[in-house]
Amino acid sequence: MIPGEFIYHRPSTVAEAVSILAQHGDEARPLSGGHSLIPMMKLRMAAPEHLVDLAGVEGLKGIKEDAGTIVIGAMTTQHEMIHSDLLSEKLPIIRETSLLIADPQIRYLGTLGGNVANGDPGNDMPALMQCLNASYVLTGPEGNREVAARDFYEAAYFTALAPEEILTAVRIPTPPSGHGFAYEKLKRKVGDYATAAAAVVLTMDGNTVSSCSIALTNVADTPLHAADAEGILTGSSLDPDTVKKAIAAAEAITEPASDGRGPAEYRTKMAGIMLERALARAAERASS
Ligand code: FAD
Repeated sequence: MIPGEFIYHRPSTVAEAVSILAQHGDEARPLSGGHSLIPMMKLRMAAPEHLVDLAGVEGLKGIKEDAGTIVIGAMTTQHEMIHSDLLSEKLPIIRETSLLIADPQIRYLGTLGGNVANGDPGNDMPALMQCLNASYVLTGPEGNREVAARDFYEAAYFTALAPEEILTAVRIPTPPSGHGFAYEKLKRKVGDYATAAAAVVLTMDGNTVSSCSIALTNVADTPLHAADAEGILTGSSLDPDTVKKAIAAAEAITEPASDGRGPAEYRTKMAGIMLERALARAAERASS
């Protein structure tokens, strides 16, 4: 199918983009890489009358470190994150996760901002951002506000973003060097969304877990921050009994749909298995 008619806007500043959005309210949508929005428009699941293309807006690209925080501009593509030396050194889980998204053609255009703002439970970056305790900078007519990724997602495709706001940057506290990390994703084939996936970042003090962060992808209407599982594992030696309890706690918060990726019970179990694998790999990678 072809999309319905729309008016195309190409602002050059954030202020201009926000003003167009404020003028048209729910009838306008920002356009970033277009790899979620355009397919939705072709299927007529989205029919914005005004498309506000962010490609020409200055200052929305780039990755930098600022006083213990990594700041990634919303229009930074998945391809650019994969090839960032700063991210490879400080936040290698972003590269690992980006490489599991779709295929190179989509990653050339798909942006971090579009991926996290979309509210699609199948997207991989939202759970990763919850695991990393990131926050999103939202810019509207009144200026900037920051919302934690852990508070941003309300339901499938419903987020804390107001219609007149643009997500302009993602801020991530730099994890300590030597942290262990892993993103484990089960998918039916290359290029597919997750049947279930788990992100883990942890630090070890000898054989003891000194901090642990976990989030899950595509096993509920929103990404899931697994706080109870984190609490169970912190202070443990990742012994099998404790890992089993943590996995049960993580599985307990899932509410997946039964769909082409499998029945709900199967997807819940797969979330547990992805978490078990991610924990093992993160622990292996952590230096104490
Ligand atoms: P767009 O499509 O331009 O926008 C998406 C939504 O976010 C729109 O509603 C738009 O209005 C809004 N938006 C965009 N930017 C902003 C902003 N800065 N501020 C506020 N709102 C904004 N993704 C995965 O994570 N994992 C996968 O496995 C995966 N597989 C895919 C397979 C296929 C075949 C395709 C086509 C896509 C797949 N994707 C997957 C999605 C892809 O990563 C998208 O590019 C990404 O989710 C959206 O980013 P975008 O820049 O293309 O956003």
